[in-house]
Amino acid sequence: MFWLSVALPFVIGLAVAAILYFAVGWWGFWVVFPWIGFSIALGTYLMAKLPRKKRSVGRRVAILMVLPALLLFVPIANNENFQLEGVVLLVLAGYFSKGVIHYMVAKVFGPLIWGRGFCGWACWTAAVLDWLPVKKAGRVPPELKKIRYLTFAFSVLLPVILVWFLNYDVRNDYLHKAEMLWMFAGNALYYLIAVPLAFIYKDRRAFCKLVCPVPVVMKPPAAVALITIAPSGKPEAACVKCGQCNRVCPMDVDVMSFISQGRKVRDTECILCMECRLVCPTGAIA
Ligand code: SF4
Ligand code: SF4
Ligand code: SF4
Repeated sequence: MFWLSVALPFVIGLAVAAILYFAVGWWGFWVVFPWIGFSIALGTYLMAKLPRKKRSVGRRVAILMVLPALLLFVPIANNENFQLEGVVLLVLAGYFSKGVIHYMVAKVFGPLIWGRGFCGWACWTAAVLDWLPVKKAGRVPPELKKIRYLTFAFSVLLPVILVWFLNYDVRNDYLHKAEMLWMFAGNALYYLIAVPLAFIYKDRRAFCKLVCPVPVVMKPPAAVALITIAPSGKPEAACVKCGQCNRVCPMDVDVMSFISQGRKVRDTECILCMECRLVCPTGAIA
């Protein structure tokens, strides 16, 4: 069972690569998805085998390994932008590109199965944030979490205004000319905002909670995700309400309430990082 759970991400990576290769015909899918699967499999293995206090390093190694595949290999090999505004531009132009496929797999349909697992295991912005020398202290102000709806509106409206009102020519001015520039300028902006926010709020994931527009897309499918954090269900592993899971949760999820009531953690902030499971002293989290 243990080796099955370790190998599963790699098998899923191969399956996704096969489906996309036969649907779209780009050889690079055979590089990207098996690599992502292998990275997650290695992270899962490390989380199980490292000394208890170091286990969370496993996921951080995995997310860092995924970074070059998604931030460098795919955009550079295809000269494409994977950021939200770039995908909206492509959709407006009726262009079905790798960026659109990425959004469909990682952020629209994938979350129906693995919720916000992309945020926990594959996001290139979080891959850097999760290694910052910041020890979590307190919570970001919940009322500020609405900012991400504004950034989402901005990311969607900007391309709409460019295309519909300013006659921006996506095919001639954007595709294969400005697309990569948008990708790296957009990402540079994300890092420029995200890193200081982590230090200001003493929270590596402050950007994810406050500013990033992507969760607005992911939350509806993640609300009904197949894979969730759940109680172990074993009578000998009951929750003793120690609160350790809540303290380590990087996304401020009230894990204890769910688990102590025997419920699955149905919270669209959960990124399936497994930190709560690693610290639970009784094994109450499956
Ligand atoms: S919220 Fe945004 S920055 Fe954070 S992990 Fe998810 S996609 Fe990445
Ligand atoms: S609930 Fe657990 S798995 Fe989900 S984000 Fe919090 S610590 Fe990670
Ligand atoms: S860490 Fe485990 S025992 Fe403690 S509150 Fe969370 S679920 Fe309950």
